[in-house]
Amino acid sequence: MPLELYDTWSRTVRPFTPIHAGQVGLYCCGPTVYDHAHIGNLRTYVFQDVLRRALIRNGYDVRHVVNITDVGHLTSDADEGEDKMEKGSRRTGESAWSIARRYTEAFVEDWRALRLLDPTVWCRATDHIAEQIAFIAELERAGYTYRTEDGLYFDTIKQDDYGFLARLDRAGLQAGKRVAMGAKKTVTDFALWKFAEPGVVRQMEWDSPWGRGFPGWHIECSAMSAKYLGTWFDIHCGGEDHIAVHHSNEIAQTQAAHGTRLANFWMHGHFLTLDASAKMSKSSGDFIRLETLRRRHFDPAAYRYLCLTAHYRSKLHFSWTSLDAAQTALNRLRHLYEAWPDAGRVSADFVARFDAEVNDDLNLPRALAVLWELVKSDLPAADARATVDQFDTVLGLGLREWKSVKPVEHDLPQNIRSLLDEREQARSERNWAKADEIRKALGTRGWKVEDRPEGQRLIAIAAD
Ligand code: AMP
Ligand code: ZN
Repeated sequence: MPLELYDTWSRTVRPFTPIHAGQVGLYCCGPTVYDHAHIGNLRTYVFQDVLRRALIRNGYDVRHVVNITDVGHLTSDADEGEDKMEKGSRRTGESAWSIARRYTEAFVEDWRALRLLDPTVWCRATDHIAEQIAFIAELERAGYTYRTEDGLYFDTIKQDDYGFLARLDRAGLQAGKRVAMGAKKTVTDFALWKFAEPGVVRQMEWDSPWGRGFPGWHIECSAMSAKYLGTWFDIHCGGEDHIAVHHSNEIAQTQAAHGTRLANFWMHGHFLTLDASAKMSKSSGDFIRLETLRRRHFDPAAYRYLCLTAHYRSKLHFSWTSLDAAQTALNRLRHLYEAWPDAGRVSADFVARFDAEVNDDLNLPRALAVLWELVKSDLPAADARATVDQFDTVLGLGLREWKSVKPVEHDLPQNIRSLLDEREQARSERNWAKADEIRKALGTRGWKVEDRPEGQRLIAIAAD
C-alpha cells in the first residue's frame, strides 16, 4: 500500500507524492530554547521521527530541517509580552546567549536519548538574521508591511485566504477581539520586526533597515526553510497549537513573497495531556521532562514506546500507570528479542501487514498490534528476530543495540551473581522496594550497583 498522509491544509488523508522524485524536503518547527523541553514537546518530535523513518522505509531520501528558536518568541502569540529568552535570562541571572546554548545542548541530548534521527540541518534563528531581514525586505517591496511605533507588521487584510490552514473565522476574530492590539490594524496582523524599546537594554538585538531590534517569531521559519529547502517543499510539521497562528503566518509570509503555501503537506501532532495536577506548560516552570522520567527509573525508550501506542492525530493522556505499562511491554519485547537467534528469514507477510499500517497515515498503534501478533505466532524465533528488525527501522526502539547487562566481571562470586539476577528480576517487575533492599545487601558485601538505562552496572568498592 502506498504511503498516505493526513494533510491539515486539505483536511484529508491523501497519497503522498514527492515534488522531486525520490526526495523529500521536511521542515519541523523546533524548540524555543529558554528552558528544557517537556515530554509534551517531545511527543511532537517522536511523531516527526516516525514520519521521517516511514519516509525512509518508503525509499525516499529525506532532507530534514529543524530550527532552534533562540530569539523573538514572545510570551504571548499575539506579539505582546516579553521575549522568552530575555525572560529566561532574568529568571536565572544567566545571559540570554548562554541560556540558548545550554538549553539547545540539553534539547539535543533529549533528542538522542529518544533515538530520534539527527536532522540533516539544525538551524538557529540568531544565525540567520540576515536571511530574515532580506525576507522582510521582500515583503515590504511587495507591499505587505506597515509600520507602527513598536515594529514592522504584516498586513493580513491584503491576503484573501489568510488563515485558510486553520479555517480561521477572520470576521469573527476581528469583531470579538479581546487582546490589546496596540497599533495593529487587524487582530491577525503580526510582527515581522520589533523595535528595541527606548531605554530597555536587550541582549539580543540587531540593526536593520527599519531600526535596531529583533525579528518576529514567524519569519525565521519562512526564511530558513526557504534557504534549506526552497520555497515549495514536501512536508511541514509542528504541534497542533501551531496551526492557528504560527503556521498560518509562515504561509502568509511565504505566499506574499514567493507565491507558494510553503509545503505540499502540513502535518500536526496532537497534544500530550496531563491531569490538572501536573502541568504541561514550559512557561509555568513546573513540568515533566525526560529527566523526571529517568529519576523514576523509566528509560527514554519507554516514553518513545508510549508515544507509539497512540495515533499522532489523537490526544495522548499521560499517566505514570500508562508509562509503567509501556516500560513493561518494552522490557518484555527486549528480553524476547535478545533471546531470539540471528540469521532468520524476514516474514514477507508480517512485513507487508506492518508496512500497510505505517503507510495508512502512520497508524503506529495498529503496527504495534501486528508486532505483538507476530510475537504470539508460531513463526520460528530467528525469523521473528529478522522481521522485528525490519519493524524497528520505523519504531526506532533500538532493540538490536539493547543488552540486558550481565556482570562484566568474569570471576564474580556466585552469591553476588545471584543477587544481581534477583535484582534484575525485581527491576523488570518494577519492584523498587526489593531492588533497593538488594542494593543494600550488595553494598554490605562490597559492591556498588548503578542503574543505567541499558541495565545494572556493578562496581567493586575498593577496600580501605
Ligand atoms: P516550543 O518549544 O514551545 O516552541 O514547542 C515545541 C514543539 O512542541 C512545538 O511543535 C509545539 O507545537 C509542541 N508542543 C507544545 N506543547 C505540546 C504538548 N503538550 N503536546 C505535544 N506537543 C506540544
Ligand atoms: Zn516554525
